[in-house]
Amino acid sequence: MTVMKTREQATVNGTPTHYKARHCLLCRSGKLGLALPLAHSAIGNDYLPTAQPQQEFAQSLHLCKDCGNVQIEDVVNPDILFRSYTYSTTSSLGLVKHFQTYAGEVATAAGAELGSLVIDIGSNDGSLLKAFQSIGYRVLGVDPAVEIARRATAEGVETVPDYFTRKLAERIKQSHGPAAVVTANNVFAHSDKLPEMADGIRELLRPDGIFTFEVSYLLDIVQKMLFDTVYHEHLCYHSVRSLDLFFRRHGLELIDAQRIPTKAGSLRGTVQQAGGPRPVAPGIARLIEWEGITELHAPETWREYTRRIETARDRFVTVIDRARAARKRVVGYGASPTVTTLINQFGLAGRIDYLVDDNPVKQNTFSPGHHIPVYPSESLYQRGADVIAILAWNYAAPIMTRHQAFAAAGGKFIIPLPMLQVV
Ligand SMILES: [Zn+2]
Repeated sequence: MTVMKTREQATVNGTPTHYKARHCLLCRSGKLGLALPLAHSAIGNDYLPTAQPQQEFAQSLHLCKDCGNVQIEDVVNPDILFRSYTYSTTSSLGLVKHFQTYAGEVATAAGAELGSLVIDIGSNDGSLLKAFQSIGYRVLGVDPAVEIARRATAEGVETVPDYFTRKLAERIKQSHGPAAVVTANNVFAHSDKLPEMADGIRELLRPDGIFTFEVSYLLDIVQKMLFDTVYHEHLCYHSVRSLDLFFRRHGLELIDAQRIPTKAGSLRGTVQQAGGPRPVAPGIARLIEWEGITELHAPETWREYTRRIETARDRFVTVIDRARAARKRVVGYGASPTVTTLINQFGLAGRIDYLVDDNPVKQNTFSPGHHIPVYPSESLYQRGADVIAILAWNYAAPIMTRHQAFAAAGGKFIIPLPMLQVV
Protein backbone atom coordinates (compact mmCIF):
# COMPACT_ATOMS: atom_id res chain seq x y z
CA MET A 1 0.00 0.00 0.00
CA THR A 2 1.43 3.40 -1.03
CA VAL A 3 0.73 6.10 1.52
CA MET A 4 1.32 9.67 0.36
CA LYS A 5 1.78 12.05 3.24
CA THR A 6 0.61 15.59 2.82
CA ARG A 7 -1.49 16.93 5.63
CA GLU A 8 -4.87 17.52 3.94
CA GLN A 9 -4.73 15.83 0.55
CA ALA A 10 -3.24 12.47 1.48
CA THR A 11 -4.09 9.49 -0.69
CA VAL A 12 -3.75 5.73 -0.49
CA ASN A 13 -3.40 4.00 -3.86
CA GLY A 14 -4.83 7.11 -5.50
CA THR A 15 -7.98 7.54 -3.36
CA PRO A 16 -8.27 10.19 -0.61
CA THR A 17 -7.53 8.90 2.89
CA HIS A 18 -10.37 10.95 4.44
CA TYR A 19 -12.73 13.90 4.13
CA LYS A 20 -14.09 16.45 6.61
CA ALA A 21 -17.75 15.78 7.46
CA ARG A 22 -19.26 19.25 6.93
CA HIS A 23 -22.84 17.98 6.76
CA CYS A 24 -24.84 15.78 9.10
CA LEU A 25 -24.41 12.14 8.08
CA LEU A 26 -28.02 11.45 9.07
CA CYS A 27 -30.03 14.45 7.83
CA ARG A 28 -27.55 16.33 5.54
CA SER A 29 -27.98 19.55 7.53
CA GLY A 30 -25.01 21.92 7.43
CA LYS A 31 -25.77 23.24 10.92
CA LEU A 32 -23.00 21.44 12.78
CA GLY A 33 -21.40 22.77 15.95
CA LEU A 34 -18.28 21.58 17.78
CA ALA A 35 -19.53 19.47 20.70
CA LEU A 36 -16.45 17.72 22.11
CA PRO A 37 -12.91 18.74 21.17
CA LEU A 38 -10.71 15.64 21.04
CA ALA A 39 -7.04 15.22 20.16
CA HIS A 40 -5.97 14.17 16.65
CA SER A 41 -5.20 10.48 16.38
CA ALA A 42 -3.72 7.86 14.10
CA ILE A 43 -6.23 5.11 13.31
CA GLY A 44 -6.91 3.73 16.79
CA ASN A 45 -6.58 0.03 16.00
CA ASP A 46 -3.42 0.33 13.88
CA TYR A 47 -1.01 -1.36 16.28
CA LEU A 48 2.01 -1.97 14.05
CA PRO A 49 4.67 -4.73 14.04
CA THR A 50 7.35 -2.07 13.36
CA ALA A 51 7.32 1.61 14.28
CA GLN A 52 6.40 3.53 11.10
CA PRO A 53 5.03 7.03 10.58
CA GLN A 54 1.22 7.07 10.61
CA GLN A 55 -1.17 9.71 9.39
CA GLU A 56 -3.27 11.44 12.05
CA PHE A 57 -6.90 12.43 11.65
CA ALA A 58 -9.20 14.83 13.51
CA GLN A 59 -11.70 13.08 15.78
CA SER A 60 -13.54 15.87 17.57
CA LEU A 61 -17.30 15.36 17.83
CA HIS A 62 -19.78 17.69 16.15
CA LEU A 63 -23.46 18.06 16.98
CA CYS A 64 -26.20 18.52 14.37
CA LYS A 65 -28.46 21.37 15.46
CA ASP A 66 -31.32 20.03 13.35
CA CYS A 67 -31.58 16.33 14.26
CA GLY A 68 -29.30 15.94 17.29
CA ASN A 69 -26.90 13.49 15.63
CA VAL A 70 -23.34 13.56 16.98
CA GLN A 71 -20.56 12.64 14.56
CA ILE A 72 -16.80 12.54 14.13
CA GLU A 73 -14.93 15.27 12.22
CA ASP A 74 -12.76 13.27 9.78
CA VAL A 75 -14.39 10.42 7.88
CA VAL A 76 -11.54 8.05 7.04
CA ASN A 77 -11.70 6.07 3.79
CA PRO A 78 -13.33 2.76 4.79
CA ASP A 79 -10.95 0.88 2.50
CA ILE A 80 -8.18 1.87 4.91
CA LEU A 81 -10.24 1.07 8.00
CA PHE A 82 -12.03 -2.14 7.04
CA ARG A 83 -10.83 -3.85 3.87
CA SER A 84 -8.02 -5.67 5.62
CA TYR A 85 -9.88 -5.87 8.91
CA THR A 86 -8.70 -8.93 10.81
CA TYR A 87 -11.06 -8.79 13.78
CA SER A 88 -12.96 -12.04 13.86
CA THR A 89 -16.00 -12.39 16.10
CA THR A 90 -15.33 -15.89 17.37
CA SER A 91 -12.10 -14.59 18.93
CA SER A 92 -14.43 -13.26 21.63
CA LEU A 93 -16.33 -16.12 23.27
CA GLY A 94 -18.65 -13.80 25.19
CA LEU A 95 -19.88 -12.34 21.91
CA VAL A 96 -20.79 -15.73 20.46
CA LYS A 97 -23.06 -16.51 23.40
CA HIS A 98 -24.51 -13.00 23.13
CA PHE A 99 -25.37 -13.71 19.47
CA GLN A 100 -27.15 -16.98 20.30
CA THR A 101 -29.38 -15.23 22.82
CA TYR A 102 -29.87 -12.31 20.45
CA ALA A 103 -30.88 -14.52 17.49
CA GLY A 104 -33.49 -16.24 19.66
CA GLU A 105 -34.94 -12.92 20.81
CA VAL A 106 -35.06 -11.43 17.31
CA ALA A 107 -36.64 -14.61 15.87
CA THR A 108 -39.37 -14.39 18.52
CA ALA A 109 -39.94 -10.66 17.88
CA ALA A 110 -40.07 -11.18 14.10
CA GLY A 111 -42.44 -14.14 14.37
CA ALA A 112 -41.32 -15.17 10.87
CA GLU A 113 -41.88 -18.72 9.62
CA LEU A 114 -38.85 -21.03 9.47
CA GLY A 115 -37.07 -20.89 6.12
CA SER A 116 -37.49 -17.09 5.90
CA LEU A 117 -34.45 -15.04 4.93
CA VAL A 118 -32.25 -13.34 7.55
CA ILE A 119 -29.58 -10.90 6.35
CA ASP A 120 -26.77 -9.55 8.51
CA ILE A 121 -24.99 -6.38 7.39
CA GLY A 122 -21.39 -6.38 8.58
CA SER A 123 -21.67 -10.10 9.23
CA ASN A 124 -17.98 -10.63 10.02
CA ASP A 125 -17.26 -14.37 10.36
CA GLY A 126 -20.98 -15.26 10.32
CA SER A 127 -21.34 -15.95 14.06
CA LEU A 128 -24.73 -14.26 14.37
CA LEU A 129 -26.05 -15.87 11.17
CA LYS A 130 -24.95 -19.33 12.34
CA ALA A 131 -27.21 -18.81 15.33
CA PHE A 132 -30.15 -17.97 13.02
CA GLN A 133 -29.23 -20.93 10.81
CA SER A 134 -29.42 -23.30 13.76
CA ILE A 135 -32.97 -22.06 14.49
CA GLY A 136 -33.99 -22.90 10.90
CA TYR A 137 -33.72 -19.68 8.88
CA ARG A 138 -32.06 -19.10 5.51
CA VAL A 139 -29.18 -16.67 5.96
CA LEU A 140 -27.03 -14.30 3.91
CA GLY A 141 -24.12 -12.18 5.13
CA VAL A 142 -22.76 -8.91 3.73
CA ASP A 143 -19.25 -7.83 4.73
CA PRO A 144 -16.61 -5.82 2.86
CA ALA A 145 -13.67 -7.61 4.51
CA VAL A 146 -12.88 -9.90 1.57
CA GLU A 147 -10.90 -12.58 3.38
CA ILE A 148 -13.33 -12.86 6.30
CA ALA A 149 -16.28 -13.05 3.86
CA ARG A 150 -14.53 -15.81 1.90
CA ARG A 151 -13.94 -17.85 5.05
CA ALA A 152 -17.52 -17.41 6.28
CA THR A 153 -18.83 -18.61 2.91
CA ALA A 154 -16.49 -21.63 3.03
CA GLU A 155 -17.90 -22.43 6.47
CA GLY A 156 -21.48 -22.48 5.20
CA VAL A 157 -22.62 -18.87 5.72
CA GLU A 158 -22.91 -17.37 2.23
CA THR A 159 -21.40 -13.87 2.48
CA VAL A 160 -21.32 -11.13 -0.17
CA PRO A 161 -17.89 -9.43 0.03
CA ASP A 162 -19.12 -5.87 -0.41
CA TYR A 163 -20.53 -2.74 1.21
CA PHE A 164 -24.29 -2.70 1.69
CA THR A 165 -25.85 -0.24 -0.76
CA ARG A 166 -29.30 0.21 -2.26
CA LYS A 167 -28.03 -1.38 -5.50
CA LEU A 168 -26.77 -4.42 -3.62
CA ALA A 169 -30.09 -4.64 -1.77
CA GLU A 170 -31.93 -4.77 -5.10
CA ARG A 171 -29.61 -7.51 -6.36
CA ILE A 172 -30.09 -9.55 -3.18
CA LYS A 173 -33.88 -9.18 -3.39
CA GLN A 174 -33.80 -10.54 -6.94
CA SER A 175 -31.54 -13.46 -6.14
CA HIS A 176 -32.71 -14.41 -2.63
CA GLY A 177 -36.13 -12.76 -2.21
CA PRO A 178 -37.15 -10.21 0.45
CA ALA A 179 -35.91 -10.53 4.04
CA ALA A 180 -37.98 -11.24 7.14
CA VAL A 181 -35.13 -9.95 9.31
CA VAL A 182 -32.23 -7.61 8.60
CA THR A 183 -29.65 -7.08 11.35
CA ALA A 184 -26.71 -4.68 11.67
CA ASN A 185 -24.77 -4.88 14.91
CA ASN A 186 -21.74 -2.67 15.39
CA VAL A 187 -21.71 -1.52 11.77
CA PHE A 188 -24.61 0.91 11.97
CA ALA A 189 -22.34 3.51 13.52
CA HIS A 190 -19.59 2.75 11.00
CA SER A 191 -21.05 3.94 7.70
CA ASP A 192 -21.03 7.45 6.26
CA LYS A 193 -23.83 6.30 3.95
CA LEU A 194 -26.57 5.59 6.48
CA PRO A 195 -29.29 7.21 4.31
CA GLU A 196 -28.36 4.83 1.48
CA MET A 197 -28.21 1.92 3.93
CA ALA A 198 -31.70 2.77 5.23
CA ASP A 199 -33.06 2.94 1.66
CA GLY A 200 -31.51 -0.46 0.95
CA ILE A 201 -33.06 -1.94 4.07
CA ARG A 202 -36.49 -0.55 3.13
CA GLU A 203 -36.04 -2.10 -0.33
CA LEU A 204 -35.10 -5.48 1.11
CA LEU A 205 -37.57 -5.87 3.99
CA ARG A 206 -40.84 -7.77 3.61
CA PRO A 207 -43.92 -5.67 4.52
CA ASP A 208 -43.98 -7.51 7.88
CA GLY A 209 -40.19 -7.72 8.24
CA ILE A 210 -38.03 -6.13 10.93
CA PHE A 211 -34.62 -4.50 10.97
CA THR A 212 -32.70 -4.66 14.25
CA PHE A 213 -29.44 -2.96 15.13
CA GLU A 214 -27.23 -2.18 18.09
CA VAL A 215 -25.35 1.09 18.51
CA SER A 216 -23.51 2.82 21.34
CA TYR A 217 -25.94 5.13 23.13
CA LEU A 218 -25.02 8.80 23.24
CA LEU A 219 -26.56 9.27 26.68
CA ASP A 220 -24.26 6.56 28.11
CA ILE A 221 -21.24 8.07 26.35
CA VAL A 222 -21.88 11.37 28.13
CA GLN A 223 -23.04 10.10 31.51
CA LYS A 224 -20.49 7.29 31.92
CA MET A 225 -17.41 9.16 30.59
CA LEU A 226 -17.16 6.84 27.58
CA PHE A 227 -15.45 9.46 25.37
CA ASP A 228 -12.69 6.94 24.68
CA THR A 229 -15.17 4.91 22.61
CA VAL A 230 -14.81 7.74 20.08
CA TYR A 231 -12.49 6.62 17.29
CA HIS A 232 -12.54 6.64 13.52
CA GLU A 233 -14.43 3.39 13.05
CA HIS A 234 -17.40 5.02 14.82
CA LEU A 235 -18.70 7.88 12.73
CA CYS A 236 -22.07 8.53 14.40
CA TYR A 237 -23.10 8.54 18.07
CA HIS A 238 -26.80 7.91 18.21
CA SER A 239 -29.68 9.10 20.34
CA VAL A 240 -33.26 7.86 20.15
CA ARG A 241 -34.37 11.29 18.97
CA SER A 242 -31.94 11.39 16.02
CA LEU A 243 -32.69 7.77 15.05
CA ASP A 244 -36.47 8.22 15.23
CA LEU A 245 -36.28 11.24 12.88
CA PHE A 246 -33.83 9.45 10.60
CA PHE A 247 -35.95 6.35 10.00
CA ARG A 248 -39.08 8.44 9.41
CA ARG A 249 -37.31 10.28 6.60
CA HIS A 250 -36.57 6.95 4.89
CA GLY A 251 -40.01 5.36 4.93
CA LEU A 252 -39.22 3.32 8.01
CA GLU A 253 -40.44 3.42 11.59
CA LEU A 254 -38.51 2.94 14.84
CA ILE A 255 -40.86 0.73 16.85
CA ASP A 256 -38.67 -0.21 19.81
CA ALA A 257 -35.47 0.99 21.52
CA GLN A 258 -33.98 -0.70 24.54
CA ARG A 259 -30.93 0.18 26.61
CA ILE A 260 -28.56 -2.81 26.84
CA PRO A 261 -25.20 -3.23 28.64
CA THR A 262 -23.12 -4.06 25.51
CA LYS A 263 -19.94 -1.93 25.35
CA ALA A 264 -20.86 -0.28 28.65
CA GLY A 265 -24.04 1.26 27.23
CA SER A 266 -25.81 0.60 23.95
CA LEU A 267 -29.21 0.80 22.32
CA ARG A 268 -30.97 -2.06 20.58
CA GLY A 269 -33.40 -0.65 18.05
CA THR A 270 -36.16 -2.38 16.08
CA VAL A 271 -37.53 -0.89 12.86
CA GLN A 272 -40.32 -1.80 10.44
CA GLN A 273 -41.68 -0.39 7.18
CA ALA A 274 -43.59 2.87 7.87
CA GLY A 275 -47.14 1.92 8.80
CA GLY A 276 -46.13 -1.73 9.30
CA PRO A 277 -48.15 -4.22 11.37
CA ARG A 278 -46.52 -3.67 14.78
CA PRO A 279 -47.39 -0.98 17.36
CA VAL A 280 -44.72 1.53 18.45
CA ALA A 281 -43.44 0.71 21.95
CA PRO A 282 -44.06 3.41 24.58
CA GLY A 283 -40.36 3.21 25.57
CA ILE A 284 -39.40 5.31 22.55
CA ALA A 285 -41.36 8.38 23.64
CA ARG A 286 -40.03 7.90 27.20
CA LEU A 287 -36.38 7.80 26.06
CA ILE A 288 -36.82 10.85 23.81
CA GLU A 289 -38.42 12.66 26.75
CA TRP A 290 -35.50 11.67 28.97
CA GLU A 291 -32.97 12.91 26.39
CA GLY A 292 -34.80 16.24 26.57
CA ILE A 293 -34.85 16.35 30.38
CA THR A 294 -31.10 15.64 30.56
CA GLU A 295 -30.47 18.19 27.75
CA LEU A 296 -28.43 15.61 25.83
CA HIS A 297 -28.40 17.76 22.70
CA ALA A 298 -27.76 21.11 24.39
CA PRO A 299 -24.36 22.77 23.72
CA GLU A 300 -23.97 23.53 27.46
CA THR A 301 -24.20 19.80 28.25
CA TRP A 302 -21.26 19.23 25.93
CA ARG A 303 -19.24 22.13 27.35
CA GLU A 304 -19.77 20.67 30.81
CA TYR A 305 -18.76 17.20 29.55
CA THR A 306 -15.58 18.72 28.07
CA ARG A 307 -14.74 20.24 31.48
CA ARG A 308 -15.37 16.91 33.26
CA ILE A 309 -12.95 15.16 30.88
CA GLU A 310 -10.30 17.86 31.47
CA THR A 311 -10.66 17.47 35.24
CA ALA A 312 -10.35 13.69 34.97
CA ARG A 313 -7.20 14.10 32.86
CA ASP A 314 -5.62 16.58 35.30
CA ARG A 315 -6.21 14.29 38.30
CA PHE A 316 -4.92 11.19 36.53
CA VAL A 317 -1.83 12.87 35.09
CA THR A 318 -0.97 14.44 38.46
CA VAL A 319 -0.87 11.02 40.13
CA ILE A 320 1.15 9.49 37.28
CA ASP A 321 3.65 12.37 37.32
CA ARG A 322 4.12 12.12 41.09
CA ALA A 323 4.74 8.38 40.78
CA ARG A 324 7.30 8.99 38.06
CA ALA A 325 8.99 11.70 40.12
CA ALA A 326 9.36 9.08 42.87
CA ARG A 327 11.10 6.85 40.27
CA LYS A 328 8.21 4.42 39.93
CA ARG A 329 7.90 2.54 36.65
CA VAL A 330 4.44 3.18 35.18
CA VAL A 331 2.95 0.69 32.70
CA GLY A 332 -0.32 1.04 30.80
CA TYR A 333 -2.72 -1.92 30.66
CA GLY A 334 -4.65 -2.34 27.40
CA ALA A 335 -3.94 -1.94 23.68
CA SER A 336 -7.17 -1.16 21.86
CA PRO A 337 -8.69 1.73 19.91
CA THR A 338 -10.21 3.10 23.14
CA VAL A 339 -6.75 3.08 24.75
CA THR A 340 -5.36 4.98 21.75
CA THR A 341 -7.99 7.69 22.23
CA LEU A 342 -7.32 7.84 25.97
CA ILE A 343 -3.52 8.11 25.49
CA ASN A 344 -4.00 10.98 23.05
CA GLN A 345 -6.64 12.82 25.04
CA PHE A 346 -4.80 12.54 28.36
CA GLY A 347 -1.34 13.14 26.87
CA LEU A 348 0.06 9.86 28.25
CA ALA A 349 2.75 9.21 25.63
CA GLY A 350 6.05 9.81 27.41
CA ARG A 351 4.41 9.13 30.78
CA ILE A 352 4.23 5.34 30.49
CA ASP A 353 7.17 2.99 29.95
CA TYR A 354 5.29 0.41 27.88
CA LEU A 355 1.86 -1.15 27.36
CA VAL A 356 0.70 -4.70 28.04
CA ASP A 357 -2.26 -6.57 26.59
CA ASP A 358 -3.61 -10.12 26.83
CA ASN A 359 -4.67 -10.29 23.16
CA PRO A 360 -1.85 -12.07 21.23
CA VAL A 361 -2.65 -9.96 18.12
CA LYS A 362 -1.58 -6.83 19.99
CA GLN A 363 1.52 -8.25 21.66
CA ASN A 364 4.94 -7.21 20.33
CA THR A 365 3.49 -4.31 18.38
CA PHE A 366 3.79 -0.51 18.62
CA SER A 367 0.84 1.69 19.55
CA PRO A 368 -0.71 3.91 16.85
CA GLY A 369 0.96 7.30 16.46
CA HIS A 370 3.22 7.31 19.52
CA HIS A 371 4.73 3.85 18.98
CA ILE A 372 4.71 2.81 22.63
CA PRO A 373 5.79 -0.88 22.69
CA VAL A 374 3.12 -3.46 23.62
CA TYR A 375 4.06 -6.68 25.43
CA PRO A 376 2.20 -9.63 26.96
CA SER A 377 1.09 -8.98 30.55
CA GLU A 378 3.67 -11.50 31.83
CA SER A 379 6.19 -8.76 31.00
CA LEU A 380 5.01 -6.92 34.11
CA TYR A 381 6.97 -9.45 36.14
CA GLN A 382 9.99 -9.79 33.81
CA ARG A 383 10.54 -6.18 32.77
CA GLY A 384 9.25 -4.82 36.04
CA ALA A 385 6.55 -2.31 36.94
CA ASP A 386 5.56 -0.40 40.09
CA VAL A 387 2.32 1.13 38.89
CA ILE A 388 -0.24 -0.25 36.42
CA ALA A 389 -2.38 2.43 34.83
CA ILE A 390 -5.48 0.48 33.74
CA LEU A 391 -6.25 2.26 30.48
CA ALA A 392 -8.80 -0.42 29.49
CA TRP A 393 -10.71 0.78 32.55
CA ASN A 394 -13.94 -1.03 31.72
CA TYR A 395 -12.02 -4.24 32.42
CA ALA A 396 -10.41 -3.01 35.64
CA ALA A 397 -11.97 -5.72 37.83
CA PRO A 398 -10.84 -8.78 35.80
CA ILE A 399 -7.40 -7.22 35.22
CA MET A 400 -6.86 -6.70 38.97
CA THR A 401 -8.05 -10.25 39.68
CA ARG A 402 -5.66 -11.62 37.09
CA HIS A 403 -2.72 -9.73 38.58
CA GLN A 404 -3.21 -10.24 42.30
CA ALA A 405 0.46 -11.29 42.41
CA PHE A 406 1.43 -7.80 41.25
CA ALA A 407 -0.57 -6.18 44.05
CA ALA A 408 0.72 -8.72 46.58
CA ALA A 409 4.28 -7.69 45.67
CA GLY A 410 3.45 -4.06 46.49
CA GLY A 411 2.33 -2.84 43.05
CA LYS A 412 -0.40 -0.20 42.66
CA PHE A 413 -3.27 -0.01 40.20
CA ILE A 414 -4.49 3.37 39.00
CA ILE A 415 -7.88 3.47 37.29
CA PRO A 416 -8.49 6.75 35.42
CA LEU A 417 -12.24 6.61 34.82
CA PRO A 418 -15.14 7.05 35.47
CA MET A 419 -13.55 8.44 38.67
CA LEU A 420 -9.88 8.28 39.62
CA GLN A 421 -9.07 5.30 41.87
CA VAL A 422 -5.76 4.13 43.30
CA VAL A 423 -5.89 0.53 44.52
ZN1 LIG B 1 -28.74 16.01 11.45
